[in-house]
Amino acid sequence: MQFDPKDFDHLTACPDCDLLLQKTEAPAGHSILCPRCGKTISRRNSDSIRKALALSIAGLLMYLPAMLLPLMTMESFGFSDSANIIDSLFDFYNNGYYLVSFMVLLSAVIFPLMLLSSVFIISLQLYRQKYPWYLARLFRSYLHLEEWAMVEVYLLGIMVTVIKMGSSTDISYNTGIFCFTGLVLLTIALAAAIDRDFFWQTIEDKKQKNNAPVAAQPPVVVHASDGGIVTAAMQGLSQCHICHKLSPTNHGTKKCPRCGEPLHLRHPSSISKTWALVLTSTIFLAPANLLPIMRVDFLGVPSRSTIMDGIIYFFQHGSYFIGLIIFTASVLVPIFKIVGLTILLLSTRPCSNRLLRQRAKMFRFITFIGRWSMLDIFVIALLSVLVNFGFFTSIHAAPAATYFCIVVASTMFAVITFDPRLIWDRCSQPQQAGSKNSRITSGNNP
Ligand SMILES: [Zn+2]
Ligand SMILES: [Zn+2]
Repeated sequence: MQFDPKDFDHLTACPDCDLLLQKTEAPAGHSILCPRCGKTISRRNSDSIRKALALSIAGLLMYLPAMLLPLMTMESFGFSDSANIIDSLFDFYNNGYYLVSFMVLLSAVIFPLMLLSSVFIISLQLYRQKYPWYLARLFRSYLHLEEWAMVEVYLLGIMVTVIKMGSSTDISYNTGIFCFTGLVLLTIALAAAIDRDFFWQTIEDKKQKNNAPVAAQPPVVVHASDGGIVTAAMQGLSQCHICHKLSPTNHGTKKCPRCGEPLHLRHPSSISKTWALVLTSTIFLAPANLLPIMRVDFLGVPSRSTIMDGIIYFFQHGSYFIGLIIFTASVLVPIFKIVGLTILLLSTRPCSNRLLRQRAKMFRFITFIGRWSMLDIFVIALLSVLVNFGFFTSIHAAPAATYFCIVVASTMFAVITFDPRLIWDRCSQPQQAGSKNSRITSGNNP
């Protein structure tokens, strides 16, 4: 069936399984879930622009104090040391761990500022009902970078550091830690306040619609006359990976008309790129776990410890909860991501129609947990600057830190390159043969 532009303007597709749906609006505070795979397709927020503007202004005001004021002071044997977020980059850099230093700089300092600034500019312009050409590009960059800003992981790193050092040193908290906690809470609230669909629609239409509460409406599935499933790809529509707009592939469109992102029916070379990244992370997982990640110099005598040594230390000292957090973030999460992605890659081969919803859920879980592996790196970043008492005792990063960062980055990129719609494509294909003659109708049943 051929579409004219008016037809697909009223359609949307699930970004995870490509199921074609009629556009519907959820009431404010509610989400529309895909009836096939359970993915959240849209979440409505009332007054999204004003909330985003207020939260981004508060976040920007909090940013500099959070980065520059000292977080805490540690005192031990008459020595004392305090540190802010920026300081925690320098030990990595001074000891030649440039990659680790660069990753901490991007994830804890630069990307959070870029996200706050871009939301501030976008929401201010939308609030003023001004629509300069760069708004769509800026919002696209925000969505690309969102996953890579990790202030909340850093905050957990601060808590782990406090518990780790609490028994052997006196810790006093400085203003910076309250500002940083405020910044993290504002960043979380900001991400929740942004109504992506409403922002995109407003940027595209160049006029503000009313996003007041609407009546509850379930997602309406588009299906063929024989009751079969219809995906966007079957109808020659490709969905933008970033803004989720549908565009016809037969018009020769190479870029999304709304945000400028390159258009593909599926991520190009998704399987081979993801395999390459999963293999890279598997190779580097061994040195990341077997080599020492931290070096403690005590009275000039260095002692090195691996990730596992650090976890055993917590268990031996009775800090089971924090030991379990580090074990989960540093050992279980990377292994789960690698094993999970391998299962997903193997099961996209022909005749794998089993456990589709479970595999889709596993992919979303892998996406969610990816960034929390950076926890141990942030803990070492803080310890290296807080415990720096000259010849008496000091803590530094060791070679596994670099390998560990490579594992975290390559698994995060693997999640981006993997196209979850490939999970569902095999089971969509039986209907594909008949789709040329299918009549598109609407109904509430998938
Ligand atoms: Zn879906
Ligand atoms: Zn787009």
